[in-house]
Amino acid sequence: MKLNVDVLRYLSKEDFRVLTAVEMGMRNHEIVPSELVDRIASLKHGGTYKVLKNLLKHKLVHHDSSKYDGFRLTYLGYDFLAIKTMVNRGVFASVGRQIGVGKESDIFEVATEDGTILAMKLHRLGRVSFRAVKSKRDYLRHRRSYNWLYLSRLAALKEFAFMKALEEHGFPVPNAIDCNRHCVIMSLIQGYPLVQVKELQNPETVFDRIIGLVIQLAEHGLIHCDFNEFNIMIDDHEKVTMIDFPQMVSVSHRNAQMYFDRDVECIFKFFGKRFNLSFEEDADNSDSGDVEDGSRPSFSSINKADGFLDKELAASGFTRKDQADMDKFIEEDSAGGAVSDDEDDSTDLDEAIVRDTDALPLSEEPEQIHEGGGPEEVENRESTGASGSNELEAQNESDESEAQDRNDAELVKCLNKQRRRAISAAHGGHKPFTSRNSYKDKGGRSSHNSKIQKQMCNW
Ligand code: ADP
Ligand code: MG
Repeated sequence: MKLNVDVLRYLSKEDFRVLTAVEMGMRNHEIVPSELVDRIASLKHGGTYKVLKNLLKHKLVHHDSSKYDGFRLTYLGYDFLAIKTMVNRGVFASVGRQIGVGKESDIFEVATEDGTILAMKLHRLGRVSFRAVKSKRDYLRHRRSYNWLYLSRLAALKEFAFMKALEEHGFPVPNAIDCNRHCVIMSLIQGYPLVQVKELQNPETVFDRIIGLVIQLAEHGLIHCDFNEFNIMIDDHEKVTMIDFPQMVSVSHRNAQMYFDRDVECIFKFFGKRFNLSFEEDADNSDSGDVEDGSRPSFSSINKADGFLDKELAASGFTRKDQADMDKFIEEDSAGGAVSDDEDDSTDLDEAIVRDTDALPLSEEPEQIHEGGGPEEVENRESTGASGSNELEAQNESDESEAQDRNDAELVKCLNKQRRRAISAAHGGHKPFTSRNSYKDKGGRSSHNSKIQKQMCNW
């Protein structure tokens, strides 16, 4: 995905205000009715509709009129909100080049005020899964972003919490700096993913170190679940750093043994092939946790401390409920419930307005989506490589812009009409027409508006 941050510079206060209004609306609507965006943003003289046109032009929002007229954030729009928040917090001052494309993320360099370069990971859940659900595109068309944004936020929160906890326990991980929405800021690792390394001075030492980490993780009650040559970084001194934590599980997970063995096997296979290390073939030979005899470490013989996940991660802000939601996503293999159109927005909306500048929950109860490919599709991360994601992303983008082009003329007409109506409503004092989605304003409009005003003046 292209991330043209120049656009960010040209976006006005009003643009961000309306973008935030769309995000807030998405808390209870997968597609946020235009009138709701207008009400939340409360720009004068129907200004919201003009701004929406601008946001559409820059692909920060997507227009949808299949059920009713409304908008949702695109990943780009979500990126900009996260970046803006981080910049306001002083975490970094500018965004540089893209340094990595994961299967479900984009990694960029960012620079702080004093010139320190950091890494920014933008989670993009849904990329891989799209491949498996092409045939269900219509079904997913209007739902996916709503879910993907929510799940990407969870993935970022989880990754941040793990990175912090692991760092505190002395694991070689990037320094976790901050997290907002689907974005994690961490220290930049000066090295290469192991997959790019053709030669090592001391392959045995590096191998022992890496397998040692798998064991050490298990002793702390954790399994990486994606421990392979793509997620291990090596620097010029052959120092190892592990990355990529959203899929980690506890050693008490029902498939823990399988995940542990898979991580171990990946490392054995890679080192065998790439660096010609030879190992004993029998995986069950060892009854000790170490690998000095060259055999696979055995999960059952490791002295595992449990509870690491629950206690320390909850302390970092990643709750059991978040984990349950992610598990549901990963393990779901059948379609589930739907989002209610009748939820009341106003109470939460007011609360959200006060709380924003930090991660704004998109939904407590995301819809469950049929993944088509099943859990393997998500669990076999890295196996498809980055090129697939690009292709996929390109396809999504072209799909969206196609649809957008088709709708543009119609939309401009519609937006102008709504704008006129809003202006006349403002002048004539009567309420704008209501949407199909029931929406009650409990808070009283003036207090509600002044809260938004307060929040957004900071921009
Ligand atoms: P994904 O979850 O999508 O696989 P990763 O966290 O594995 O994403 O990151 C993808 C790639 O980005 C990595 O293979 C690596 O090349 C690069 N990368 C990620 N984090 C950092 C970092 N902190 N410093 C330097 N490069 C990084
Ligand atoms: Mg990775």
